[in-house]
Parts: sequence; C-alpha cells; structure tokens
Amino acid sequence: MPGPSGHGLDPAELAGLRALGHRMLETMFDHLAGLAAGPVWRPMPPAVRAELALPLAADRPIDAEAAWRRFQELVLPYHAGNAHPRFMGWVQGGGTALGMLAEMLAGGLNANCGGRDHAAIAVERQVIAWAAAMLGLPEGAGGVLVTGSSIANFMAALLARNATLGAATRAAGLGGAPLTAYAQEGAHRCVADALDMAGIGRANLRRVPPDNGFRIDPAALAAAIAADRAAGFTPFLVVGTAGSVDVGAVDDLAALAALCHRERLWFHVDAAFGAFLRLSPALAPLVAGIEAADSIAFDFHKWAQAPYDAGCLLARRESDLLAAFSAPAAYLDAAPRGLAAGSPWPCDLGPDLSRGFRALKIWLALQVQGTAAIADVVERSCAIARHLAARIAAEPALELLAPVALNIVCFRHRGAGTAAGEVDGLNAALVADLQEAGIAAPSLTTIGGARAIRAAFVNHRTRHADADALVDAVLAAARARGAGQGDGPTQA
Ligand SMILES: *Cc1c(COP(=O)(O)O)cnc(C)c1O
Repeated sequence: MPGPSGHGLDPAELAGLRALGHRMLETMFDHLAGLAAGPVWRPMPPAVRAELALPLAADRPIDAEAAWRRFQELVLPYHAGNAHPRFMGWVQGGGTALGMLAEMLAGGLNANCGGRDHAAIAVERQVIAWAAAMLGLPEGAGGVLVTGSSIANFMAALLARNATLGAATRAAGLGGAPLTAYAQEGAHRCVADALDMAGIGRANLRRVPPDNGFRIDPAALAAAIAADRAAGFTPFLVVGTAGSVDVGAVDDLAALAALCHRERLWFHVDAAFGAFLRLSPALAPLVAGIEAADSIAFDFHKWAQAPYDAGCLLARRESDLLAAFSAPAAYLDAAPRGLAAGSPWPCDLGPDLSRGFRALKIWLALQVQGTAAIADVVERSCAIARHLAARIAAEPALELLAPVALNIVCFRHRGAGTAAGEVDGLNAALVADLQEAGIAAPSLTTIGGARAIRAAFVNHRTRHADADALVDAVLAAARARGAGQGDGPTQA
C-alpha cells in the first residue's frame, strides 16, 4: 500500500510490503508445486494481450496489492512453461525453488557487481574458480558471468581477434584483416552473430562439413584452413561445439585442440549446455579435450537449472580477458584500500559495468545441491532421450530423423494418409497442436530438409513418463488430423 510519499519507495511502506511479500512467496511455492498438474503453456487471450499493450496510466497509480493482483491475472497463468516437466522445446532449464529464493536475496542486496571490494564480487570469483575447476582449466584461468552463451561466444571472438592481431587492434580496429573462423554446420546461430558484431562478418564463418554424423570432420577442417591460407585469408578461430542445439552432437574436442595447437589458432568451445557432461563420469569422455580450450562459453541456466539469466565465459588465462576488456577511466580507478580496492573487477573482464548479482544463485545451488545433482539431471535427460528414441523406433507411424547423441530427439510423423508434400506441414501442425493444448511443448526444426519434431530434455522435473506422454499425444493429434498408422504418405 502507498506510504506517505505515495511513490512506493518510502521505508514506511516496508511493514505493509512485508505481509504481502509472505503471501507472494506462498503463491510462488504453490505455483511450483502445482506445475505438473497444469498445462505446459497457455496462449494469452486477446484481452490479456490488450491489457499488456496499454500505455502507462501514470496519473492513476495503483498500490502494491493491486499490482500483485495484476501479476496473478495477467502474467502468472501465461508463463512460457519451461519450468514444466513436459516442456521439451528448444534447450531451456527448469529453474528451482532455491534459485527463486536466491533471486529474492540478490534483489534485497541490490549489489552492483561491476566492481569494488565487497562480498558479492568475492562470491562471483569463487563461482568462476569452481567452474574453471569443473571444466579442468588450469591455475590462472579466469572468467565472468554474463547473460548467456550468445554474449560469451561474442566475447570469445574478441579474445581470438586480439590473440591474432595483437592488442593494438583494440585501438586501430581490424584494418581490413581478412579473418576467418570455423565451426560445424550445426553451430548455434550466435556464432555467426559473434563474427557479425565483432566486425569480422558472418560470411567469414566457414561451416565445415560433418563427419558421417553431425560432428565437424577434422580432415575437412584442416583442408578448409589450408585453402583459406592459400587464398590469402587469416584463419584465427575454431569454435568447437559441445552439444549442438539441433541434435546434441559433440565435436571431437581433443582433435580440434590438437589442430588449433598445430595451426596456432584460438580454440573456443561453445559448450552452452554440454559443459556439464563433464560432471558425469559416464558421459565426461564425450567432452574430453574441453580442458585444452583457450575459452569456453556455457550456461548455468540450462542443465544446471539456475534461473535465467546465468551464462559464463571462461578463459584459460585471465590475463587475456583483462587485455581485451579493461580500459582506464578516472572515475573507476581502483584503490589500494577502501571500497574501491580489490581490482581486477568484473568490469575489467567483460563488457558490462553495472551488473547484478548473478553469482549468488549459482553459489547457493552448487553448495546445496552439489555437482552430483547436476550430473544426475544430465544422465537422466540422456536416458529419457534414449527411451523416447526406442518408443519412436517401435511406432510404425513415426521415424527418427537423427541419431540420439545426448538429450535431444528429432523425429517426425511419417504422415500415412496425407499427401507427400504435406508431411512437413503435418509435423509443424502437430507441434503447434500439442503446445496449444498444453499437453507438451516440443519445438520444430529442420533435419536434412525435413521438418522435425524436436524434444530436448533439460528440465530436472522431466521423467520417462513425460516422453511417453509426448509420443501418445503426437499419435492422437495426428489421428485427429486424419494421419494414421503406416510408413508414409499414401499418395505421390
Ligand atoms: C543455448 C545455446 C546458445 C545460446 O545461449 P544463450 O544462453 O541462449 O545466449 C549457444 N549455443 C548453444 C549450443 C546453445 O545450446
């Protein structure tokens, strides 16, 4: 309720907000406890969309109680669903109740984690040290928390640029240097974005043909580098993918590391979700070689279940981050003592100055849940994917479109009873049918030219039965659309 100031900022309002805060917490715990019983997602009705497009009624402020009611009516029911056990679209984490509480604690502190000498900065340094140890980076490694792997991959492109052109490039720019980078065909879109934003140009990302799976072919990579050198280009960066978004493919990181060493190229790994494979003794061999990277981008908000956002860039040498991002500014001068001590600061290791306390939710979770809990989620996600693949193989109406390497399954309904040209349309419709019915939320992709239903298992709440529910729902929705059993379209 508004205090004497009427602006919702006055300490006198704390008493009223405290009681409301307790009720908010109850509601959000109820929300998390009841997730599985509700729909994965429900579309916003037109009236809600209209409300959410109104201009601010600045002359008619409402009190916090009324604002809370509006949140419950307009926002809470129309969440994206990624916390729900049957959310399988894209590659998204489910979050945790502890993470929710950590966000509240961080909000209460309102720490500015750009720098200075306070505990939040020490917590972030500790999280970075734990992460570097988890991924096998040596003493002297450094890192910084960022929004996500998109930004982390962009920062890595800058590190690689500096390593190749020298520190002077920060002042002088590229000067027309014909830099070229290399990644697998399934590399995330943000890798091309990184070159674009770094001024190097998306066209200078070479998509290296795959081996007989979906991984970069090291021989084809070596050939591409040699051809570029012969044509006057300057190869500077190889991006290995540890867990491609489409099919979960992991490049042979050890082979890429050896090649980068020979060719004197920066070796970066986009391990957005795959980084955590290293915590599972059974799965860690898949990412062998990641510890040889010059830099690694990954997300705590995917398999590690931290609430959004919680990305991370690690560099083998913290000095490379400092060389790329620190810059003098009198008002940011570090001091030998007092609050302005403790350099280097996070603002010297990345592009952000003001930044929130992302580290807290990770720091709490790693201590409370341990890394074994993350390894369990990783292993179970992959087991559920194998289970789904087996169910699909046993259903004549369905077919797998890619081998299941990790936690991602791409398949389609064969479309028996529909025209040959309509199979793609049918599968796109099935995905939307399931999402709109709130039964499950797979997403859509294209594999080898065919539209594919894509189920990515990332959420710690998902179980084998949820994969069964997906298969049952796809078959039922296809029957409702007139597509039946059998191994393909009936008409040419
Ligand atoms: C999710 C993902 C990204 C992008 O990460 P954000 O955290 O969404 O910015 C990049 N690469 C891969 C392989 C991913 O799975």
